Amino acid sequence: MIFDTHIHLNSEEYTDNLIDLLNNAKNKGVTNFLCVGYDIESSKKAIEIADQFDFVYASVGLIPTEWKQYNDQSISDLEKLILSSKKVVCIGEIGLDYYWEKEEKIKTIQKDMFIKQIELANKYNLPLSLHIRDAHQDAYNILKSRICNQKGILHCYSGSLEMAREFIKLGYKIAFGGVLTFKNAKTSKDVFLNLDLKDIVFETDAPYLSPTPFRGKINLPEYIVETVKYASELRNISFEELCKITYMNSINIFHVKTYENKD
Ligand SMILES: [Zn+2]
Repeated sequence: MIFDTHIHLNSEEYTDNLIDLLNNAKNKGVTNFLCVGYDIESSKKAIEIADQFDFVYASVGLIPTEWKQYNDQSISDLEKLILSSKKVVCIGEIGLDYYWEKEEKIKTIQKDMFIKQIELANKYNLPLSLHIRDAHQDAYNILKSRICNQKGILHCYSGSLEMAREFIKLGYKIAFGGVLTFKNAKTSKDVFLNLDLKDIVFETDAPYLSPTPFRGKINLPEYIVETVKYASELRNISFEELCKITYMNSINIFHVKTYENKD
């Protein structure tokens, strides 16, 4: 059993063959998925997919890079989506992204979006799926001063080991995806090797960031197996044991039922 804690099944890449792709992944032991939105439309689509498959859950949110879409209506739109389905178990992906945006004015908008969505998560007692890029200190300061009831996951973590430990102290988990398998991903491997397994979860971020040996191609739901296999070799632990620990970590974050084979 593997829980993919961050996947965009709502991507156009999968429109034509979603059922086949999910079946392929399930046959390889990938039992659960969190389908993540990044704006209102993709969040709606995430819910549609989650409502269709009992092993898929949805996350709704506005990613910081979509700050142009953020307006007075955004939070109430997200709130309607949360109330529209029991399968919404998370808010995200939300956070701060200074890689693409260097202007102070835009950083301020991103911080405002982030804080409003944390407040929304607290209102509905939901955890966060965090997208943080080149902004770890600012994101940390916000998460430290505005306690989120349910904490959450730092998706596609790209910060330092030191910073990861600080987020973990606040109660957050660190997600590893395809990047971990890249030859040149020294920091990611270093962070992964030095954290307690109770603080780790896995993700694909598919259709992006395919793991080795599929790097550069469209990422598929089943490829998470490659990442977990690679990770188990790095840590010198059995694949099954690593699946079990990280699966339970994921279940505990999203407060969802354990997987039962209903087919
Ligand atoms: Zn994503």
